[in-house]
Amino acid sequence: MSKYDYDLFVIGAGSGGTRAARVSASYGAKVAVAEEYRVGGTCVIRGCVPKKMLVYGSHFSEDLEDGKNFGWTWENAKFDWTKLRDHILSDVDRLNNAYTETLKNHDVEIILERAEIVGPHEVKLSSGKTVTAKYILIAVGAWPVKPDFPGSELAQTSNEMFHLEKLPKKVIIAGGGYIANEFAGIFNGLGSEVTVVNRSDVILRGYDESLRDRLLQISLAKGISYKFNCTFDKIEQRDDGGFDVYMDGKDAVQADVVLIATGRSPKIQGLGLENAGVETNEKGAIKVDEYSQTNVDSIYAVGDVTDRVQLTPVAIREGQAFADTMFNNDPKTVDYRCIPSAVFSQPPIASVGLTEGEARTQYGNIKVYSSDFRAMRNAFADRPERSLYKMIVEATSDKILGLHMIGPDAPEILQAAAIAVKAGLTKQAFDDTVALHPSMAEELVLFK
Ligand code: NDP
Repeated sequence: MSKYDYDLFVIGAGSGGTRAARVSASYGAKVAVAEEYRVGGTCVIRGCVPKKMLVYGSHFSEDLEDGKNFGWTWENAKFDWTKLRDHILSDVDRLNNAYTETLKNHDVEIILERAEIVGPHEVKLSSGKTVTAKYILIAVGAWPVKPDFPGSELAQTSNEMFHLEKLPKKVIIAGGGYIANEFAGIFNGLGSEVTVVNRSDVILRGYDESLRDRLLQISLAKGISYKFNCTFDKIEQRDDGGFDVYMDGKDAVQADVVLIATGRSPKIQGLGLENAGVETNEKGAIKVDEYSQTNVDSIYAVGDVTDRVQLTPVAIREGQAFADTMFNNDPKTVDYRCIPSAVFSQPPIASVGLTEGEARTQYGNIKVYSSDFRAMRNAFADRPERSLYKMIVEATSDKILGLHMIGPDAPEILQAAAIAVKAGLTKQAFDDTVALHPSMAEELVLFK
């Protein structure tokens, strides 16, 4: 008999936590997971999944328009926000149930309460009950941060975007990263007037410059406005329910919704880290080693709360590696090189490996290949939007260092191509592959 109530107590049933809990239990561990909100976490409940549904929903406006050149006409095409919103929310319910069932089927005990660490092996639940575990895994994720200015509480974060009562006519979005650009595309597609306001003069810092420029050009052409080097002074509520937004000392601009998308921070408040002496870094992220172990031997952490790479598939890998290491006697670490990523803007961006700038700095001698083309479907639909693919190659070895794409279905295409980049293939290997015609992806094997 163990002297603890559980072998593993997981705090947070998001992507990393559920994977770690389920797999550890499948290896025979006695596992409980505490979740204060819903099983599934940010990605499933208020992130990647419902966001992608909104992207699909919003893209129909272009598809309906483009259909005209393909012989289709639609009478009185209309969009109903509440219908899309409610269908998304019911799909989130379905996924929440599916995740719950999976955990239960693996004999993981789900405790729908907030949990606080009170010692290296001890956790206190919001009901007041205290439980013990040989190991504690913290997988509580991250939470949106709002800059501090008067009226910032009147602004929404991405968390609330999926519950809006009605489609806003005017939206102001603070930030120039993933969430800002994805929601700018969503609301623009649905017919709202969108302004993106960023503190710097770039969008999507970290992505290849040519792709960022291309997205900016296309977004401007679609009617999305951008204000750069601009910060919020204050937001005031109007009598009509809207908001007056003051920026850079100028007169108020009106909006129905203000979305703040200026990054997410590890959600460590009230977690009781100090009770066990768990160390965090200057950003509030829990410090861990390559096995996700904190400075306290019995406490581990995975996912966004560790701020290694804030992406769902990375948290899942970390959760899996933790379970393999701790309960299957199979020590595993996560390889953080060549992680593909995508921005579900319209069109989407997808990327793996080094940008041109990074490759020049690190390798000096590189070759850059690019293909700037109009997808066949866009050309036929009279849509001017052009795609851009870029391959960055180390000049001497011909090894591919990075692959960057903006255009329809870029994330779908890049996921497969990322395998080749991760495997260290050369451009010659791509050249040796016969094109699949006609497709957009064939551009990858036709770079000159
Ligand atoms: P990002 O980190 O992508 O972008 C933050 C933006 O806000 C940047 O433009 C940054 O400016 C600006 N900013 C940062 N701090 C401040 C501040 N104090 N005041 C004003 N502006 C500020 O954050 P998001 O909120 O868009 O997304 C959060 C995270 O969620 C992402 O990092 C990503 O990991 C994840 N995510 C991933 C998605 C995907 O994989 N498709 C989709 C959505 C989210 P600057 O230009 O100076 O950098």
